[in-house]
Amino acid sequence: MAFEEIVGQERIVEILKKTLLNNTFSHAYLFEGLEGLGKKQMALEFAKGVICSQEGMKPCNVCQTCRRIQEGNYPEVNLIQEDGTIKIEKIRELQKDIQMKPYEGRKKIYIINHAENMTVQAQNALLKTLEEPPAYATIILLTVNGNSLLPTIISRCQILKFRPVEIGKIQQVLMEGRGVSREESRMVSSFSNGIIGRALKLLEDEDFKRIREEVLKLTEEMLRRDTINLLESVDFFTKEKNQIEEILDMLVSWYRDLMIYKETQELHFLMNCDRIEEIQDQSNRIGLKKIRDIIFIIDQTKGNIKSNVNFQLNIEVMLLNIQEVLVW
Ligand SMILES: [Zn+2]
Repeated sequence: MAFEEIVGQERIVEILKKTLLNNTFSHAYLFEGLEGLGKKQMALEFAKGVICSQEGMKPCNVCQTCRRIQEGNYPEVNLIQEDGTIKIEKIRELQKDIQMKPYEGRKKIYIINHAENMTVQAQNALLKTLEEPPAYATIILLTVNGNSLLPTIISRCQILKFRPVEIGKIQQVLMEGRGVSREESRMVSSFSNGIIGRALKLLEDEDFKRIREEVLKLTEEMLRRDTINLLESVDFFTKEKNQIEEILDMLVSWYRDLMIYKETQELHFLMNCDRIEEIQDQSNRIGLKKIRDIIFIIDQTKGNIKSNVNFQLNIEVMLLNIQEVLVW
């Protein structure tokens, strides 16, 4: 890995590179942004840059130090990563460790992943360290939600916000970097919400592919006005209840594609661009107003399900309502 391989966070790369060049490290950083945007890799690159002892551009990414940090095998770079909450004991360990001067390399780096999972006690303990950190130490907090951190912690950190990336850029990375086909990379990046980590995960996610097939099959069944199968597909929704939001989003994306195609005939705005033939076919068979009504029904169901109204009933009503729109 290298700074250049972190997709779409050029602004942050630039800031950190400048810091490395001028040797002006803060004692504490807060990397904030959604899961999958490259926060952890960015922290590792920065750690390499701080510790790498080669001349010239840092990190060099080839010296033994850089390689060991990348492998998580360098004693002065500590990644704190817990499954659940981060308890005060973990921070006490950090505090003990941070007092020991570095013997290998010039600096010590502590990366706390999912810092929002620190208990208040843990945060209070960490605050003491942030107030008087040893000169050789840098602490990098990674979080998906800075609001869960004490304001006193945040105020001691240099904050860098990671933002979602343009779909086109993710598509390009998948095509050029991973050799994924144009259609698949476009479809996957459309469903990634601008999060490169999510796009990469979707590429290999068999569940995503299977569920999507089911959803697209359902749209065809509804068009064929197949009521018996339709009620059977309630089972599918119940079984995949945990993914209901994604499933409803897939359905909306499908009908939105039908609408876009109907109105513009433009292919490059479509999310499901690997299924052009079906989009063309279905959009020829449903009127524009009906497509709008269907999207409205799905959106309404999304809201109802969020407010915890009877799940199965909601799905049945949604399917029957969509069917009614199609038949009428
Ligand atoms: Zn190096």
